[in-house]
Amino acid sequence: MSFPYEAPVSQSLFDRASVVTPGGVNSPVRAFRAVGGTPRFMVSGTGPYLTDADGREYVDLVCSWGPMILGHSHPQVIAAVQEAVARGTSFGTPGEGEVELAEEIVARIGPVEQVRLVSSGTEATMSAIRLARGFTGRAKVVKFAGCYHGHVDALLAAAGSGVATFGLPDTPGVTGAQAGDTLVLPYNDLEAVRAAFAAHEGEIACVITEASPGNMGVVPPLPGFNQGLKDLCAANGALYISDEVMTGFRVSKAGWYGLDGVVPDLMTFGKVMGGGFPAAAFGGRADVMAHLAPAGPVYQAGTLSGNPIATAAGVAQLRLLDEAAYAKVDAASAELRSLVGEALTKAGVAHRLQVAGNMFSVFFTERDVTNYDEAKKQESFRFTAFFHSMLAQGVYLPPSAFESWFVSTTHDTRAIEKIAAALPAAAQAAAEARA
Ligand code: PLP
Repeated sequence: MSFPYEAPVSQSLFDRASVVTPGGVNSPVRAFRAVGGTPRFMVSGTGPYLTDADGREYVDLVCSWGPMILGHSHPQVIAAVQEAVARGTSFGTPGEGEVELAEEIVARIGPVEQVRLVSSGTEATMSAIRLARGFTGRAKVVKFAGCYHGHVDALLAAAGSGVATFGLPDTPGVTGAQAGDTLVLPYNDLEAVRAAFAAHEGEIACVITEASPGNMGVVPPLPGFNQGLKDLCAANGALYISDEVMTGFRVSKAGWYGLDGVVPDLMTFGKVMGGGFPAAAFGGRADVMAHLAPAGPVYQAGTLSGNPIATAAGVAQLRLLDEAAYAKVDAASAELRSLVGEALTKAGVAHRLQVAGNMFSVFFTERDVTNYDEAKKQESFRFTAFFHSMLAQGVYLPPSAFESWFVSTTHDTRAIEKIAAALPAAAQAAAEARA
């Protein structure tokens, strides 16, 4: 397709980047491959707005893929960072900021009795799985097709069809041995989980699931699914790991756990808890966490874990996230959803708006989406047209039809009006799009 306007400075930066960095980016989705066109190189962000290298301003509906729930450059987060950075950037020793961040997490989330800080969501899930294997003395891990838990080798196993399919490596570089202990099951299918436990009695260390998936688009758990997972794990001596890297501290003060109340054995966090810096965590039952070094034998470590700047940003952000803040984010999300739905309906575009708290995404399909196979059936070419029309009109959406949209406390009337003004043309573009 042709793209409505050029971005010459971004294009020249992308050309330079492509010489020195594979694909020109440091995380694949940023390259716009799913939608085509030139990735926008951003230079600054304030509240709900981003400004690119060509000087164009966008309403941001990506929010750094979730972390920027208070908007960009929140003055109190920036002040906390400036105050911390003036004292030094890394000590490689324990520090009070780590204790404060851990206390914030433990205070908010009942099932988390102890927590270990790491630097990325990937590290959090990788470490949680190692701990589950160490604790249970078992090897196998159940994950669900369409759930993303970072680029952990064992979790980059794709869907196989049917029940209890052994995962095959999804990417070159992951060996059969690394993925061979991973069972990939269809999401929202408790029968498949039951069958896997029956077929692999005494072998499954844990079931890991996104608390409410946002990485195949937003596909919330059907009523009873998470509780069913928890019950099956408990009945079979396996641990239930709820990955809240995306939902944690975003959809409520206590994340998805705060909405559905299902008690995991272990949980993983990232994104919002770092205030835009690399901070993540895994935590849960004290008797399980006690197996972690140096308290126990399961090794895990990190040079920059609990970094003082990252923890200062995280603590400042979490302390600002009270009920009133979540009410604001929820209201902005609800208003936006109704505007998007209205515009697409008016243009005659079949769609489903799927919601998990204040996270949502649009599927270009006539049917509700409950798993990855269904998600893949949507007409994503319509999203491409929709995306580029919105981008040309100054609205920055996730550059993929399979990602959640994120809003912040700063998505106010002015920002939402700008989105509302862009929607009719984008919906029309989606209606006219051809595969
Ligand atoms: N788990 C979930 C649910 C995620 O959404 C992500 C990232 O998007 C990760 C884990 C990996 O986190 P990170 O990108 O910080 O490694």
